Amino acid sequence: MINVETYTKLIKETQTKNAQLVAVSKTKPVEAIMELYQLGQRVFGENKVQELVSKQEVLPNDIQWHLIGSLQRNKVKYIIPFVSLIHSVDSLKLLQEIEKEATKVNRVVDCLLQFHIAEEETKFGLTLEEAQELLSAPLYKSMQHVRIVGLMGMATFTNDNKQIRKEFKQLANYYQQLKETFFRAETSFCHISMGMSGDYEIALEEGSTLVRVGSLLFGSRT
Ligand SMILES: *Cc1c(COP(=O)(O)O)cnc(C)c1O
Repeated sequence: MINVETYTKLIKETQTKNAQLVAVSKTKPVEAIMELYQLGQRVFGENKVQELVSKQEVLPNDIQWHLIGSLQRNKVKYIIPFVSLIHSVDSLKLLQEIEKEATKVNRVVDCLLQFHIAEEETKFGLTLEEAQELLSAPLYKSMQHVRIVGLMGMATFTNDNKQIRKEFKQLANYYQQLKETFFRAETSFCHISMGMSGDYEIALEEGSTLVRVGSLLFGSRT
């Protein structure tokens, strides 16, 4: 089911750029995840809380689970005990809920701020101004159980590579600006999550540290 050659190529390409491969296993069965696990993959991404939880329960404990899809506040509690990185933080209210649940289990949970960089209105996320506002809020500054370690974004779904590159450049630029203003001393603020099956090569060229690849590894989702 898994194309070993494709996986090996992806691992090589990401390692060369000091980036990490997040294998996006949404809609795929645990057997497919185990195939990739046997090849050495430990970082997997899911976009739905329910699916993430049910897979986590039956799969090996040393898998690092990333939540890459939109997260409703009432579902935060289900993933906080084990999630390794949340890619999709887009409001202070969501961060507040993560803080509350992480406090209960005495964890510090790593999060990325999701940005709106695409042309489509459907892709959610923050603007630079909104992110600056969030990071300046006293409420955010008081939080002890969340750690923002970078940014995430999705490019427009298009064949226009110029457009995609422009959007990734934009995200990398936001990252630099926020690093200088808010995270100057924090080495943990080091991630730009960008790039999927169709555009991960451009993303790596533009400084991605986390590429989220699904269909290229697992086959197309029907
Ligand atoms: C599904 C998904 C991916 C992976 O998409 P592919 O095109 O299958 O690689 C990456 N990021 C997010 C946020 C997704 O929802």
